Formats: sequence, C-alpha cells, structure tokens
Amino acid sequence: MSEASDVETLQELPLRTGGLMRRLRLIVIIVSAALFAVAIAAWGRSHELGEVIGREGRDEQGKVTCIDGLFSGGGQLAVGRLQVQHPHRNGGANPLNPATQWFEKPVARTVWCWRRDFIPYPFLSDTAHGWLTRLGFGRRGLRAGSITRHAFTGLGVPYWLVALATGLAPALLLGQSLVRAIRRAERARLGQCLHCGYDLRGSGARCPECGHELPSARPRM
Ligand SMILES: [Zn+2]
Repeated sequence: MSEASDVETLQELPLRTGGLMRRLRLIVIIVSAALFAVAIAAWGRSHELGEVIGREGRDEQGKVTCIDGLFSGGGQLAVGRLQVQHPHRNGGANPLNPATQWFEKPVARTVWCWRRDFIPYPFLSDTAHGWLTRLGFGRRGLRAGSITRHAFTGLGVPYWLVALATGLAPALLLGQSLVRAIRRAERARLGQCLHCGYDLRGSGARCPECGHELPSARPRM
C-alpha cells in the first residue's frame, strides 16, 4: 500500500491540493456568507435611518463643516464627503469655495464620528445617466436645510448589488458542492471511480485510470 515510489508520490499530489482547495472554498463560503448577512442587515437598517461613520471636520466653534466616510441610507451604501455649505459670507467667517461657488467654513480639527440622525434617503442620488440613478447608484447629492445645505460627492451603490456580490460566491460554490456530491453518489452506486468516473468493476485497491485510492477495499460487482 505504501510503496515509496516516485509514481505514487506524484499520484498523491492532486489529492493534497484538492484538500487545500476544499479548505479555501470553505473559507470563501464562510467569509462571503458573513458579509452577505451583514449586507442584508445593513440594507434593512438603511430604510429606517440614515447614518454615516467616518471623519468629521469641525470649525473653531466646534460646528460640523464636513464629513468624510461611509454613508448608508435609503437602500444605498456610499463612500464620499458631506460638505456643509452656507449661502452668505457671514462677515468673512465663511470663505468662498471657488470650485462650488458656495461659502464653506474652514476645518480647524477632525474627529471620528458615527452619526445616525439623517433622513433615510439615498445620500448620492444623481449620476450622469438617469437609469443608473433609478437603479440606486449616485455620484452627487444635495440636502437643503433652513439656511445651510449639505452637498454630497462620492460613489453610491445600491445594497441589492452589495447583496448580490457577497451572496453570489457562496451560492455558486455551495451549488457546485451539491452537484459534486450528487455525482460522487451516482459514481459510487454505479461502481465507478469517485475521482474520474472510470469503471472499477474488477479493479484492485486503486483506480487503474487516475490512481485514486478506493475508499473501501470491498469487491464491487
Ligand atoms: Zn479514477
């Protein structure tokens, strides 16, 4: 059984890499399935409250001037910036941003923040193509307040795409595993090699076609 010939060593190699691939598949399935569960939970939550986690810029009075981070709201996940904009110069306290033509307070310091007090709408609700916007994608957004307004820039993707991307890999891999299990069961029933499908009736302890060791040494009919 354990003759240390070169041929046998070579024949065992595919089985070992097969084991490694199975472990990798399992890791991919578990990680993707966990991300999928998080995506589904965040998707549902995004319809109840709008939130952002990231770095908050504050002026010298401690008021929020901008937030860079991850935004979630209205079925959309977005990475980008919220900029608080003012309609007036306010005696020079609010300098003009020539790029936006709005008055924006300078940042004095930044702190980490997790704000959950936004209306649950998509933060980025405008793309160059209307159909992309309708699907839930976005590059820009505006939310008007009583005096100031919030301008959003970045990239927003719909949660259905996040769920699809994280759910597809585990679904495909589990489907593939199921197909393989059915095929192995069918081969075992027909007395074929589980590895390559070669007819093993009358064969010894190894498949003469691929060298795969038979799971049991019982004679097959
Ligand atoms: Zn075989």
